[in-house]
Amino acid sequence: MPEETDQSCVFCQVVSGDMPSKKVYEDDLTIAFEDIRPEAPVHVLLISREHLESLNDATHSDEQLLGHLLRTAAKVANQLGIAEEGFRTVINTGPNGGQTVPHLHLHILGGRFMKWPPG
Ligand code: AMP
Ligand code: ZN
Repeated sequence: MPEETDQSCVFCQVVSGDMPSKKVYEDDLTIAFEDIRPEAPVHVLLISREHLESLNDATHSDEQLLGHLLRTAAKVANQLGIAEEGFRTVINTGPNGGQTVPHLHLHILGGRFMKWPPG
């Protein structure tokens, strides 16, 4: 079982309010807030309130949460006005995936055309 929160974790600090953030959405399971280094006109991070390090740590008992994160990403994209033109969702996992914050998060990027493949 993952710990519920880890106060040495920057995104757990966002959840507790110890780290200021520009929240755009929250519910019982998730919080979405603006990325401090935006890579697109809209760049929001969607995190679970519970501390889960990465997709590598997700278990069967997290399946409902993972599904909720994906549906919530679409809901947040719609709320931010980027859903119709399209948007990019990204989950970086581990060193080769480019993950820098070890608390599962989903990037929601939009407001411009997204190239493929990523670098
Ligand atoms: P990743 O590289 O996929 O782990 O993404 C981490 C993201 O978190 C990066 O895009 C950072 O710019 C962003 N980030 C780090 N610290 C904060 C913070 N305190 N508030 C908002 N975004 C942050
Ligand atoms: Zn955390």
